Amino acid sequence: KRVKVLVIGAGVVGLSTAVCIAETLSYCSVTIIAEKFSPDTTSDGAAGILFASEFPDVPLGRQRRWFKETFDHLLAIADSPHASDAGVFLCSGCQIFKEVPCDKKPFWSDFVLGFRNMTRHEMKRFPDHKFGQAFTTIKCECVSYLPWLEKRFREAGGRIRCEKITGLQKVAQMYDIIVNCSGLGSSLLAKDEEVYPIRGEILKVNAPWLKNFIRDGDGKTYIYPGIGYVTLGGTWQADDWRLEVDKEDSNGIVERCSHLEPSLRKAQVIGRWVGLRPGRPNPRVERDYLYVEGRHVPLVHNYGHGGCGITLSWGTALDALDLVRQSLFEKPPQARL
Ligand code: FAD
Repeated sequence: KRVKVLVIGAGVVGLSTAVCIAETLSYCSVTIIAEKFSPDTTSDGAAGILFASEFPDVPLGRQRRWFKETFDHLLAIADSPHASDAGVFLCSGCQIFKEVPCDKKPFWSDFVLGFRNMTRHEMKRFPDHKFGQAFTTIKCECVSYLPWLEKRFREAGGRIRCEKITGLQKVAQMYDIIVNCSGLGSSLLAKDEEVYPIRGEILKVNAPWLKNFIRDGDGKTYIYPGIGYVTLGGTWQADDWRLEVDKEDSNGIVERCSHLEPSLRKAQVIGRWVGLRPGRPNPRVERDYLYVEGRHVPLVHNYGHGGCGITLSWGTALDALDLVRQSLFEKPPQARL
């Protein structure tokens, strides 16, 4: 273990990336440094439904691969004895639209299970909506999945430190490769002006009779049944840094969700949560270099997943792993001159 790799961040992106590197590159010693760990990361509060929106400037083939690799990885866990420890399971339901969408077959529809358009009979449940798609996807609950990944990381020889990093140059002196998975933190850490918060508020309710998810195609209203509670959402508020619960937002969520599923009016609210998605026009999964004390230190970025961090976590982690591997075998820029 001669190559010292530092992964910054212990959300779903950082832990997935660290596990991929530690389990694959046996000659690397991998350390994670993060300010926050489970259950205090943004990933912990997310519903964790595998569902993707399309990023404008990432080739569609790459986005398809990110989705498929994550789906297949989590499906294997859902089909294994680890499913309950990891908090990963199949979840069936529908996405409904008030207007028929232009793209009736989203790029991920080949990878989820049993994707089909809903029948007129099924749509009668939703009189305000004209069109719907039914499918089975995966729900990955990070309050279980992150500790499960952390254990896997330690078993592969990984080390963990809790600390806020204030500058990449400082840590680059002590490592051979840096992997930046700091999510929204990259706005300061990587001085990336394209990164911004997208505030999301959700409610947790006790409604064990609900077994199927419902998602409005506008992405703002959703009902996701989980292991211990049902998640009701949500909000999508760009450039809003507030972490406090907003009563008006909460009331709006209850109203919209109960309109879709009237039985929710009787459901007891057991929690409220606000998280800031790491917004960016496109996720950044690429390699850069830091110049430190006469050395070019490879810096692999993996952040900016917006509302799809869990959905794309394993696929982007595999790309980051490839970039780390390439860095080991390619000469840094100054050596090529
Ligand atoms: P985070 O989980 O935020 O982790 C970032 C890590 O970096 C943390 O450990 C943090 O402490 C560390 N860090 C940051 N800066 C520093 C620093 N300077 N020094 C040290 N450590 C640092 N996605 C889905 O795929 N499906 C969903 O159903 C879904 N639902 C969501 C619902 C809501 C309400 C919200 C808010 C988000 C939802 N998301 C969903 C999006 C998902 O939560 C994010 O895309 C994902 O959590 C991003 O993961 P991450 O690891 O990049 O970031």
